[in-house]
Amino acid sequence: MTLPNFTYIRPKSLTDAVGHLQSPKARIHAGGTDLLGCLRDGVFIAEKLVCIGHLDKLNGIDRTPDGRVRIGALTPIAELAASGLNQQSYPALAWGAAEVGSPQLRNQGTLGGNLCQKPRCWYYRGEFLCLRKGGNKCYAYDGENQYHCLLGGSVCFITHPSDTAPALVAYDAVIRVAGVKGFREVPAGKFYILPGENVEKETVLTPDEIVTEILLPPPVQGSRGSYRKVRARRSWDFALAGVALALKFQGEVVEQARVVLSGAAPIPWRSREAEEAITGKRLDGETAARAAQAAVKEARPLKNNGYKVPLFRGLIEEELLRISKA
Ligand SMILES: Cc1cc2nc3c(=O)[nH]c(=O)nc-3n(C[C@H](O)[C@H](O)[C@H](O)COP(=O)(O)OP(=O)(O)OC[C@H]3O[C@@H](n4cnc5c(N)ncnc54)[C@H](O)[C@@H]3O)c2cc1C
Repeated sequence: MTLPNFTYIRPKSLTDAVGHLQSPKARIHAGGTDLLGCLRDGVFIAEKLVCIGHLDKLNGIDRTPDGRVRIGALTPIAELAASGLNQQSYPALAWGAAEVGSPQLRNQGTLGGNLCQKPRCWYYRGEFLCLRKGGNKCYAYDGENQYHCLLGGSVCFITHPSDTAPALVAYDAVIRVAGVKGFREVPAGKFYILPGENVEKETVLTPDEIVTEILLPPPVQGSRGSYRKVRARRSWDFALAGVALALKFQGEVVEQARVVLSGAAPIPWRSREAEEAITGKRLDGETAARAAQAAVKEARPLKNNGYKVPLFRGLIEEELLRISKA
């Protein structure tokens, strides 16, 4: 398909941008790497694109006076991956960013766009009027569902596509948002919506809201983090299975744990079962295997994605063991 016609706006300020988003069928344009494909493929329509790419205040990584780290929504994904601060203090985020797509996508794509990108289900992206597009059926349920979710599906079986969001959930980040009523802050763990709650939305954002920045809590002494992703091929691809870890150790014992799965559910999926299995324990082979088992205990595979259960089990066990020796 060709790109449909739209009005293109370069607002003077963030307030001006929020104002332009009041009109129906207006969409935010950041790096455009997901948005333009969605418009071309008719996933949704937009009559007005509101460009935010030139709003420099939304770009960059710095520390706040209270010791938190602030990452502007327009920060390119490549910068997140290369940032020494991230690599040292928030490695799951730096590694997650390094796993996104290709170098071109990481240079052009922004963190805000990565968090708000649309799901990759081929029925949703294709010419099917599925539930998420206002239809009355999830075509994946009894269709080609090898890349779909194991957990949290209920009425729609997408997997959440972002490789940076699981790390933000693992680090208890806060997402700052601007709208007509001013700013609000949403914990990353509450930013995404399950299909059972609202099948046509992926996030809690209203159409006129803009993600402005992400705030990470001050780095924690004794913490270790990682992101591991398995994909179907070595070239760019979305996660078949992935895990973001943020663990705080006291000696060899795990004092606090965050285990967040990608490629498993319609949202970055916090596995409280795996977290419980390792908290207060020495992270040895037995504990890691028990945690990996616990993470998939509630999995409900569809016809073609049962392979993901042992894949997640192996991936989580291996990554926990690796981080225990890091
Ligand atoms: C071939 C290909 C491979 C990819 N592989 C991966 C991958 O392996 N892992 C991965 O994580 N991602 C992957 N992606 C997705 C890619 O990372 C995203 O397209 C990119 O991060 C989006 O950023 P952007 O700035 O270009 O957003 P845009 O395309 O401009 O916007 C994306 C969506 O977010 C909304 N939006 C943008 N910024 C904001 C904001 N600040 N506040 C609120 N809403 C906003 C837009 O309205 C739009 O709906 C891939 C994409 C492609 C095309």
